[in-house]
Amino acid sequence: MTETYRLVIGGELTDAASGETFDSIDPSTGEAFAAVAKGGSEDADRAVRAARQAFDEGPWPKMKGRERAQYLLKVADLVKQNAGALAELEARDGGHTIRMAKGADIGMVISTFRVFAELAGREDDERPLPRSPASTNWMRHEPIGVCAAVTPWNFPIQMAAWKIAPAIAAGNTVVIKPASYTAITTIELGRLCQEAGIPEGVVNVLPGSGAAAGESLVASPMVDKVAFTGSTEVGRRIMQLASANVTKCTLELGGKSAAIVLDDVDLDYALDGTLWGVFFHNGQVCSAGTRLLVDRKIHDDFVAELAKQAGAIRTGPALDPASDAGPIVSKTQLETVERYVAIGREEGADVLAGGDRAMVEGHDGGFYYQPTILGGVRNEMKVAQEEIFGPVLVVIPFEDEADAVRIANDSIYGLAGGVWSGDNARAVRVAEQLRTGTVWINDWHMINPRYPFGGYKQSGLGREHGEIGFDEYREVKHIHVDLGGQARARHPWWDLTVPKRESPAAPGPEAAGSKPGG
Ligand code: NDP
Repeated sequence: MTETYRLVIGGELTDAASGETFDSIDPSTGEAFAAVAKGGSEDADRAVRAARQAFDEGPWPKMKGRERAQYLLKVADLVKQNAGALAELEARDGGHTIRMAKGADIGMVISTFRVFAELAGREDDERPLPRSPASTNWMRHEPIGVCAAVTPWNFPIQMAAWKIAPAIAAGNTVVIKPASYTAITTIELGRLCQEAGIPEGVVNVLPGSGAAAGESLVASPMVDKVAFTGSTEVGRRIMQLASANVTKCTLELGGKSAAIVLDDVDLDYALDGTLWGVFFHNGQVCSAGTRLLVDRKIHDDFVAELAKQAGAIRTGPALDPASDAGPIVSKTQLETVERYVAIGREEGADVLAGGDRAMVEGHDGGFYYQPTILGGVRNEMKVAQEEIFGPVLVVIPFEDEADAVRIANDSIYGLAGGVWSGDNARAVRVAEQLRTGTVWINDWHMINPRYPFGGYKQSGLGREHGEIGFDEYREVKHIHVDLGGQARARHPWWDLTVPKRESPAAPGPEAAGSKPGG
């Protein structure tokens, strides 16, 4: 009997109103290993009502930041205590290699809850504003209300932490809808939030399809903020849905990030780094360095060695500690990767490494693809412009720095980029010209919950992480207190709205310490 994972609503584990479930497939084997309750519109409404009630009537938004911080730290501790089991679930559900799941995934979840606990604990909700002669003014941060979060399949528990931790640290309540391929670890994280004693209704988890559960959640008039990570195409739809109620939105969308290799680089270091930049988690990473731009002077030697090393990456079952790369998340995504490689061939690209499914002994039903490098690519080709979201690197030569910057910026996306160089000053000069939310110099994938992350252009709206990410979950209120005691008399519009003969002796706006309007 497979285990069934259920919705988390109002502090309870519950079945979907329809009683329906869907299978979760282990991509290493292609077989179902668990069932998940399939939330629909009715469940979305139930979850939002629970979150609404917890916000409007519950203790959470009224608590001091340092009290909320204690709960977040408790969640971090529980994740640490359950690290082995959570990592194994992530490996089975999403095809994360067990090494990556234990290190990158669980480590990031713990540090995300700890960082936002620290930010909540600072209690910087009130900040003074410049004084005017006749009034005192300050700014107050307040929670926004009910947050709806919708997350993708590539980093399920990390994405859940990126949404839940800042939302609840700031005093909001949240309903999160995980991707259907990989809902399980988000449900487990929701369950651990209950175990940590977070009041019922503050964290709700709503597995179910994007079309039913997702749309109902985002379009709900009881939701005050939507936080989405996923494809640019669905991001556009989320904006449309949110616009009906002018609901605030942050969007983390796709990318086609350029890694620029300058001719002064330490070759071994850059070879290793560019492989890591693109093939980490099989390229199913929004910020993967999927376009490699190499100075023509070193291009041929660099690419020949890169192809050789790509061939040495061990693709295998996610739970095998010897696997460098696991399977692709689903059969559909595997077919998408195959389709793009075929398009690349039709466009005239040369397959320098990989280019086919990977056969893994004893796992014939799994969804494996070889790390693939396409050479002879021009930036206008589809494979250089569109996000493939698989282990496919395209390589493009450039003539000089200006040419590299031009090619890198010639994209609808602007999530991340990187420069490999032996000269930091030169690398920074290039980095400053890239139109992306993050630029790594001689490094890749270094995402830290203390530093902002997000995209320029069609890679998104707003930022996650750090103080900026925290503020995306807080409203700003300006409070003005009159110090003169004659506010009515000073309001300049008074004469316009009240018949002259009935108005008090008004000294007029020139007597006021500040001017109206903005
Ligand atoms: P999708 O955009 O297809 O789905 C993301 C989430 O949205 C899923 O939970 C999905 O549900 C849901 N969804 C789909 N349609 C709707 C809808 N109409 N209304 C509400 N919700 C909906 O992305 P993937 O899951 O396929 O993830 C891969 C994509 O995410 C890539 O393009 C990648 O670049 C991007 N991404 C961006 C990141 C960033 O930080 N910028 C990070 C990670 C990924 P369901 O699963 O049920 O379809």
